[in-house]
Amino acid sequence: MSKRLLLFDIDGTLVHSNGAGREALVATLMELFGTAGPVAHYTMDGKTDPRIISDLLTAANVPATEIEAALPHIYELMAVKAHAIFPLKQMTPCPGVPALLARLQQCPAVVLGLLTGNGRLTAPLKLLYAGIDPALFVVGAYGSDHIDRNQLPAIAMQRAAAQSGFAFNGSHTVVIGDTPADILCARAGRATAVAVASGWHSAATLAKYHPDHLLENLANTAEVLRILCNGYR
Ligand SMILES: [Mg+2]
Repeated sequence: MSKRLLLFDIDGTLVHSNGAGREALVATLMELFGTAGPVAHYTMDGKTDPRIISDLLTAANVPATEIEAALPHIYELMAVKAHAIFPLKQMTPCPGVPALLARLQQCPAVVLGLLTGNGRLTAPLKLLYAGIDPALFVVGAYGSDHIDRNQLPAIAMQRAAAQSGFAFNGSHTVVIGDTPADILCARAGRATAVAVASGWHSAATLAKYHPDHLLENLANTAEVLRILCNGYR
């Protein structure tokens, strides 16, 4: 039986995090480097954590070798900060997400995964504090795997193949996200791009990047299931 790999972005797609991730990152960089660089004017959405960290610290004149060497430590401290900060941020699932995930869990042909710029340690915490069980997602490709988001679909497909024994390629894979970067990332993996305007970008903006499907949000469970699981249920 053919399978379908669904790769969900987190921020703005599954979860409204109310700036929780940004706060945890700033607290981490302040503690380790005494600065978070030009963070007040920096747009994070769609970018991987190592991209964001590198941009901010480079602007603060931290040498690239020092940034690279510090990344594992930064990820660990971000998770510590997340445990303190996330419970205070009233993070919520995006509209329709709990109902959709409950239904997708029952589709035997579906492998649920994450494709996110968040690091491997903080990604499950964002879900957890928004009331979503991270264990629903059996594979993930994270910002901590690669600085370039466009490399993450291939990593997720490899992991899904190792996990399920099914040789996933782009034709079996859907990337669901709320930014132009998610659409471009789907293209890089030759996957289907589903854009959802529940984050910072309007449907009109997302439409300019020509996703395969464009939704205001994930609230219409029947319609979303039809798009995500077409022919695979
Ligand atoms: Mg997002």
